[in-house]
Amino acid sequence: MSESVIDELYREIILDHFRKPHRRGIVPGSTVAEGENPTCGDSLRIGIEVREGKVAGYSFDGSGCAISQASASILGDTVEGKDVALANGVASEFEAFIRDGKAPNVDLGEMEALSGVSKLPMRVKCATLAARTLRLALNGGKLEG
Ligand code: ZN
Repeated sequence: MSESVIDELYREIILDHFRKPHRRGIVPGSTVAEGENPTCGDSLRIGIEVREGKVAGYSFDGSGCAISQASASILGDTVEGKDVALANGVASEFEAFIRDGKAPNVDLGEMEALSGVSKLPMRVKCATLAARTLRLALNGGKLEG
């Protein structure tokens, strides 16, 4: 596929998740972390349930631009059901990939749809907010509900 076709496909994936987010609405009893991106006005809360070393549940809410909200929805699709260590790895490798262009060592799954953001410095923090907030949740966050 040509680069413009891929860009178009990725744009559609992002808009689809923004319009019809997956796992929106924090599940009671989740470990919740909050993240803010003041430069754009994005905010996210991500809730996770860890069972037997796996991310058994993922949910989120928040407000902000399409990239920030879609990335939280796509991230849930990518990490739910995975080992906590792998979920942490996806989040940190994704951040390094978007921020520094560093090639990821793990399969980023549908998060690849956000790869074009690495060319848009103003939007990097929008795209990485969900990954940053997930890592906080995986490392304790705070309990809600
Ligand atoms: Zn934003």
